[in-house]
Amino acid sequence: MSLAPETRSLLEALGVDAARTTAGTMPSFSPVTGEEIAALTPDTPATAAAAVARAKEAFKAWRLVPAPKRGELVRLLGEELRADKVALGKLVSIEAGKSPSEGQGEVQEMIDICDFAVGLSRQLYGLTIATERPGHRMMETWHPLGVVGVITAFNFPVAVWAWNSALAFVCGDAVIWKPSEKTPLTALACEAILARALARFGAAPENLSQVLIGAGDVGNVLVESPDVALISATGSTRMGRIVGPKVAARFGRSILELGGNNAGIVCPSADLDMTLRAVAFGAMGTAGQRCTTMRRLFVHESVYDALVPRLIKAYASVTVGNPLETQALVGPLIDRQAFDAMQAALAAARAAGGTVHGGAREAIGSDAAYYVHPALVEMPEQVGPVLEETFAPILYVMKYSDFDAVLEAHNAVGAGLSSSIFTLDLREMETFLSARGSDCGIANVNIGTSGAEIGGAFGGEKETGGGRESGSDAWKGYMRRATNTINFSRELPLAQGVTFDI
Ligand code: NAD
Repeated sequence: MSLAPETRSLLEALGVDAARTTAGTMPSFSPVTGEEIAALTPDTPATAAAAVARAKEAFKAWRLVPAPKRGELVRLLGEELRADKVALGKLVSIEAGKSPSEGQGEVQEMIDICDFAVGLSRQLYGLTIATERPGHRMMETWHPLGVVGVITAFNFPVAVWAWNSALAFVCGDAVIWKPSEKTPLTALACEAILARALARFGAAPENLSQVLIGAGDVGNVLVESPDVALISATGSTRMGRIVGPKVAARFGRSILELGGNNAGIVCPSADLDMTLRAVAFGAMGTAGQRCTTMRRLFVHESVYDALVPRLIKAYASVTVGNPLETQALVGPLIDRQAFDAMQAALAAARAAGGTVHGGAREAIGSDAAYYVHPALVEMPEQVGPVLEETFAPILYVMKYSDFDAVLEAHNAVGAGLSSSIFTLDLREMETFLSARGSDCGIANVNIGTSGAEIGGAFGGEKETGGGRESGSDAWKGYMRRATNTINFSRELPLAQGVTFDI
């Protein structure tokens, strides 16, 4: 096959050898047009295993490089990303269907995590701890962990790699990345960008970072290898149910970032203008294909009629279109499977008594591209498809009257990623954030469920997998902790007052 001229020039500008993307057996499609845009040669279980062996050697050298020096590599990566922000953002739009603003926003997130990780490279602190024994000192040290296998989803094709790799590099780990089989080109672009940073850095071992192209069978080699100390896997709960137990069975460590079924609660005192905008972006942005997309909305009965008709109007007026050629706010679904899942969920919602606004396919471009109008569904109660994540723009809206009951309904789903409350009432706000409030890893007030900043730890509870990435102390997941006790006295007192005189 031959590359479209625009894709070819973008790949070349980013430093990807275009010949690698045309002669293989694994097709890659753009959701923007539905057309095949590349054909890559996938890795095999054997080449994946060889990559693990190489990464193991790279780790042995990288762990000895002082952390602030490792941070210099990440600083250079941030510089390279700044230079390529527009081009990489555009490739994200081509491969994942995001609007230019969201494509570039994703690259900005990569730059932000690099900045964060550079600072972190001088702050990998352990504690000094009071000891009960005289003449002793107790402390903890943090050491590099090993080879980190990063498995990522199609919908954040580049940012999630950066969240993991920027931290893993400063923590002294080697990385093997298995990107989504739906977004291999952006992965090759990141590899080329990192190669420029590595060349400028000069002192990193070969194979510190490797990319494996392919589907779950290739990722599975990382999952099952005892030489991969940490698996950081982002994707569906279905994938996590397979990957999590396999890593646990070999006592490996995992960071699981899985599906979400995120909700907002609109209380009587909510600022409805702000709520409207927050819900519209949270539910329709990225065509509903964010793990943090708002999928459920509980509206107090006293403000239902003031908010929901306006929301339905906003849904009717939102623009859907080709993200490369128009200013549309909503782009395509990733593929036909996503469209079918959306239509099945809408049918199930209708069968359960829901009133569906929107949700129809829009004839944009070729038959192979799947554009849909986002759907708002008024539901009588939280049943059927409302309980599950459908990775498409569907917002289920439900009326509530009692605050305690709505908190319970909010938490009564499998996933536990992100949540929001819209209120000006201090008691409602603090209750939502308290131990008896939202059970999610992310709980927001007066903003939507999506669009997290890199400074906070990102991740969720229950079927979302429990992992944390990105900011705060998420770095600890990429290192191993040793507790050290040092005796500088001439005695040997035992802990807990135990005596053992010989
Ligand atoms: P997916 O589960 O289909 O695939 C994700 C990745 O897992 C891909 O790279 C895939 O090849 C790999 N994979 C699948 N089966 C595997 C196996 N058995 N062993 C090893 N690797 C395997 O997900 P997707 O459709 O690409 O992404 C959408 C899903 O990801 C949604 O559920 C969304 O909520 C979730 N997601 C979660 C987060 C988060 O941070 N919590 C972020 C983005 C996306």
